[in-house]
Amino acid sequence: MLMRMSTLFVRTLREDPSDAEVPSHRLLVRAGYIRRAAPGIYTWLPLGLAVLRKIEGIIREEMNAIGAQEVSFPALLPREPYEATGRWTEYGDNIFRLKDRKDADYLLGPTHEEMFTLLVKDMYSSYKDLPLSLYQIQTKYRDEARPRAGLLRGREFTMKDSYSFDVSDAGLDASYQKHRAAYVRIFDRLGFDYAIVKATAGAMGGSKSEEFLAKADVGEDTYVRCTTCDYAANVEAVQVRPAAPAPYDDAPAAHVEDTPGTPTIDSLVDHLNTAFPRADRPWVAGDTLKNVLVVLKHPDGTREPLAIGLPGDREVDQKRLEGQLEPIEVEPMDETEFAKHPALVKGYIGPGVLGEEGKSGIRYLVDPRVAEGTSWVTGADEPGRHVIDLVAGRDFTADGTIEAADVRDGDACPNCTEGTLESARGIEMGHVFQLGRKYAEALDLKVLDENGKLVTVTMGSYGVGVTRAVAAIAENSLDEIGLCWPRNVAPADLHVVAAGKDDAVFAAADALVAGLAEAGLDVIYDDRAGKISPGVKFKDAELIGCPTIVTVGRGVADPDNQVIEVKDRRTGERQELALDGAVAALS
Ligand code: ATP
Ligand code: MG
Ligand code: MG
Ligand code: MG
Repeated sequence: MLMRMSTLFVRTLREDPSDAEVPSHRLLVRAGYIRRAAPGIYTWLPLGLAVLRKIEGIIREEMNAIGAQEVSFPALLPREPYEATGRWTEYGDNIFRLKDRKDADYLLGPTHEEMFTLLVKDMYSSYKDLPLSLYQIQTKYRDEARPRAGLLRGREFTMKDSYSFDVSDAGLDASYQKHRAAYVRIFDRLGFDYAIVKATAGAMGGSKSEEFLAKADVGEDTYVRCTTCDYAANVEAVQVRPAAPAPYDDAPAAHVEDTPGTPTIDSLVDHLNTAFPRADRPWVAGDTLKNVLVVLKHPDGTREPLAIGLPGDREVDQKRLEGQLEPIEVEPMDETEFAKHPALVKGYIGPGVLGEEGKSGIRYLVDPRVAEGTSWVTGADEPGRHVIDLVAGRDFTADGTIEAADVRDGDACPNCTEGTLESARGIEMGHVFQLGRKYAEALDLKVLDENGKLVTVTMGSYGVGVTRAVAAIAENSLDEIGLCWPRNVAPADLHVVAAGKDDAVFAAADALVAGLAEAGLDVIYDDRAGKISPGVKFKDAELIGCPTIVTVGRGVADPDNQVIEVKDRRTGERQELALDGAVAALS
């Protein structure tokens, strides 16, 4: 393919667009690859399309190579299938909904599990038809709350989505592994530095799921990886208990040796001021106690967590105290239950706080005597019986895992005994799911098995963000002067600049470009004559970012020794090349 700058539909900009948040967005607009049509919605110009098509080509090759067959669904879809799986409601504000003239509901597809399931149901009925993998490269619509960073999070975007259909769990596993391997090849070929991480299933449902995250600071996903083994997970999916400090045994800084006498709120406050002194002001009764676990140790070695959980509603607690509400049951947690929640804690120090509240599903302990202001410890009726530990902990979710943002570097790896976790940011490029039978059940996709019995099909779903890949690759490869594409996705292999006014330069450049095009190379040819200076042409070439920039200029003046200059866009290295034989050398 040959694109001539004199006629190419492109207008490069010297200024950054004002709405661009990340470098790839700025440069893709400035270099004339895309234009914004509406928030999160972009128009593709010839240069942008050239890159997009190359990425699609790589994806297509790898999908075809695992035997997946290409189909194409509409984006405008009826409500009913999405109603049947519950996603019409689940997606909430995230889908674009519309009505036809007869007042029937439609949506613009955010992803196509339902439609693929129904298509296969329509056409296939026997186990002999399976396994089957289908895919499409198609436009998706999601009314993202924060469309940002240009193509990285669009409201209209292209996705390659595939779906596998199997009769058995083992079959699903094999289909999943095939897709996963194809994704490894796709992202290798796209030149990404990426991590494959354990992920949550999100709106898809299903069991096993992994994401392919391109390593990038602008990424919206945070993942952790182990320093020792190959464990890696999106923090959304981390099921890790914090390593430090240990639940209660090894928390030296937080250990308060003894509490003689009956513990009172005052003594707890004292302990907090000893174990967790605050820089700004001391702890007082009534403070919110966050991330601190209070553990009571009995002389026989048994331990009892005392204040643990998310904060109660103070007003509610106050009402309870004042007898306006029923008091809460006292229910000490047993140690197994407690061990699931070593991370901690929000609660209040003071009367009435330790109530059953919050989404944690954990019951706080309540001692009626707290209300009287005498003691805050359940059963602390014998003086000198107790030891108290205060353990720094962290927030946690209902299922006992830590909240995403609070997994810390240095936490123990949940997969091996030696390693610790370190975090990094990434852009979600691909996502593979074992959906299982969720969609097939909801939409009644069954086939006859070997024994003539109807069985529900099991499915996988696999997505790659194609337009997102354009931006992510740009983000990964750009530098201070412009875009800088890896060769296999660049809009062209070579950017040839005719730098000069005289006919000899243009004649030599024309002949060179013709030869390169004939050799099958994709070429951008800056053949602009007139007032466009070589400086402007070089700037544009650098901004557009093809991997090799070839200058045909003064060097062709001497008919006996014609040379051109070849510059590597990434390294900036230049070398002279004899014009004679240049096509072969550049191919
Ligand atoms: P994200 O977490 O970034 O919102 P997602 O998990 O919602 O993505 P999936 O439903 O897994 O996305 O869709 C498959 C792929 O489609 C993603 O891995 C991503 O590459 C791409 N994708 C999803 N949302 C967008 C978007 N708004 N703009 C561009 N690409 C997207
Ligand atoms: Mg999303
Ligand atoms: Mg995601
Ligand atoms: Mg995803």
